[in-house]
Amino acid sequence: MSYTAWIISIGNELLIGKTVNTNAAWLAKKLTLLGYEVRRVITIPDNEEDEVEVFRDAVRRGIRVVISTGGLGPTFDDRTSEYLAKALNRKYVINDDALRMVVETFKAKGLELTEPRLKQAKMPEGARPLPNPVGTAPGIWVEEGNTIIIALPGVPSEMMGIFENYVEPKLREIGPKLHFVEKSITVKGVPEADLAPIIERGMKMSSRVYIKSHPKGHEIRAPLVEIHIYVSSEDVRNAENEINKIVDYLVTSIKEKGGEILS
Ligand code: ATP
Repeated sequence: MSYTAWIISIGNELLIGKTVNTNAAWLAKKLTLLGYEVRRVITIPDNEEDEVEVFRDAVRRGIRVVISTGGLGPTFDDRTSEYLAKALNRKYVINDDALRMVVETFKAKGLELTEPRLKQAKMPEGARPLPNPVGTAPGIWVEEGNTIIIALPGVPSEMMGIFENYVEPKLREIGPKLHFVEKSITVKGVPEADLAPIIERGMKMSSRVYIKSHPKGHEIRAPLVEIHIYVSSEDVRNAENEINKIVDYLVTSIKEKGGEILS
């Protein structure tokens, strides 16, 4: 079994330099951590020809996991789901589970259910919707032959929310057998914003590390931040060595900033 992956970034604003493609970098890091080999990152405009071609090409080549971002919103130019159905020669239909999700989200937000909003419940026949914990458009999980295609919204917080909750656990389960080790440290006295460059450098220490910070206290008055570090490797000892090296670096850098490590 090969564990290849493609990332497809959809959006005209990416091609004119208006938006920096942070989604692709974030997904590349995550997929690498999970042991997938990212072979291509492709940026294309929101149009039928490019989208249909790229999805068909990925299926034809048997790429294991294809993740697209963008074009799932309610506006007329958000048509990824429709083009995906076309690429797979499937009907573009209302999905009952997606409809329930969309109706519930709009009710909770007190928004009216309009035709363009209902469009977010339409997907290729046989697809599975992925709940969106942040916004309104569900993600899409659809399988064709050996390929899994996952379409996510373009808004980074929505893309990350769906990925971490509903995509990552599944990709970990069906991906290569790796050892995952994790550690967390709690930092007192350094605001999250000042920790960001330290975390960024830590992330660059290994292609198989992911670091996430969670603020717990008041950002300025009493900064308290929990930092989670995840490392994966084929070899458990290697994963432990890597994580220890990264934690050492984080602890030293945080202390230099005047921070206190609570645990
Ligand atoms: P929406 O419901 O907002 O329409 P969508 O799935 O249709 O969601 P887009 O319209 O393609 O997503 O993008 C929404 C916004 O998300 C963009 O304006 C941009 O700010 C951001 N965005 C889109 N793609 C990316 C990307 N690859 N990297 C970073 N930000 C992105």
